[in-house]
Amino acid sequence: MNIIVYAENQDGNFKKSVFEVVSYASQIAQTNGGNVCAVSIGNVPAENLAELGKYGADTVVSYSQDYVNSFNGEIYSQVLAHAAKAKNAELVILSNTYSGKTLAPRTAAKLSAGIVSGVISMPETASGFKVRRTVFSGKAFADVAINTSTKVLSITPNSFNITENPKSAAIENADAGLNAGDAKSKSVEIARTTGKIVLTEADLVVSAGRGMKGPENWHLIETLADTLGAATACSKPVSDMHWRPHSEHVGQTGITIKPNLYIAIGISGAIQHLAGVSSSKVIVAINKDPEAPFFKAADYGIVGDAFDVLPAITAAAQALKSQQA
Ligand SMILES: Cc1cc2nc3c(=O)[nH]c(=O)nc-3n(C[C@H](O)[C@H](O)[C@H](O)COP(=O)(O)OP(=O)(O)OC[C@H]3O[C@@H](n4cnc5c(N)ncnc54)[C@H](O)[C@@H]3O)c2cc1C
Repeated sequence: MNIIVYAENQDGNFKKSVFEVVSYASQIAQTNGGNVCAVSIGNVPAENLAELGKYGADTVVSYSQDYVNSFNGEIYSQVLAHAAKAKNAELVILSNTYSGKTLAPRTAAKLSAGIVSGVISMPETASGFKVRRTVFSGKAFADVAINTSTKVLSITPNSFNITENPKSAAIENADAGLNAGDAKSKSVEIARTTGKIVLTEADLVVSAGRGMKGPENWHLIETLADTLGAATACSKPVSDMHWRPHSEHVGQTGITIKPNLYIAIGISGAIQHLAGVSSSKVIVAINKDPEAPFFKAADYGIVGDAFDVLPAITAAAQALKSQQA
């Protein structure tokens, strides 16, 4: 089963989710035979391309023409479809990141492929091809069979371990023969948050809700997050009131995340909030109301006032950090 994976980069560097996808594809190829080809779009230094071999890529195909200078869903999906055809791929795998969500359905349409998004299992291939995904905002699972000869999967970030399977990946340059002007839409401006941990990729997330009373108290959240090396998130009302940017809003109508540790401070635990965070590996809830629904979803709970608890756990984390330094 030949597989291509989309190796998404930011400023020439691959994201952690790319190593997850390559590792995932490599395990499928080990069971089912075939080659793994990582497709890089945009300008990426050769040493970064070669690094994909460490996780099991047999080949890395790089598209670096002017028409891929900035992300465009129409163009990038055409490039992926071009690579899939060139490599006779039966399986195209992406991470379910923002760009993965844009590219997976477009690429599937171009290849007349069946698609499953938000995949959380290795495929069952003994008879047919079946994968598991989450449905109903993470409250249930669906096992989905794909019957088309070409298949597209987008896998949920943080669902699979990064594993090494070192290969000296052959690096090839390719050209899909497109023009930037072929696209019906174009990026006018890219505004990027810098110097912060990307929420969807974070292993640790410190999140807060209306219990923090106002934006002037968020320094307590940021100090804890900085100490732990965590990203910050928030509940919907907090972003609706502009205490925090919408990019931090997690839940049914916000971002879905799956960190190793999610610390929820002054968040009630409404079902719509839990929909975006309940797959976190370990959940800690801090709330002054012992009846807060979050405690039912949490692995650990602290009943207490955030304004007492936060300085105490931040000081404890700082002390631990300085012991380790
Ligand atoms: C269609 C729909 C979609 C929605 N989508 C989302 C979504 O994606 N994400 C989302 O978050 N919400 C979503 N909501 C809103 C959701 O239902 C809740 O209203 C929201 O999550 C509540 O936010 P909160 O917990 O910050 O605030 P509140 O419900 O006001 O809870 C604040 C909590 O803080 C605690 N608290 C107060 N003071 C302190 C203190 N000093 N120390 C410690 N704890 C304290 C309180 O006990 C309380 O539990 C959606 C709602 C609808 C109808």
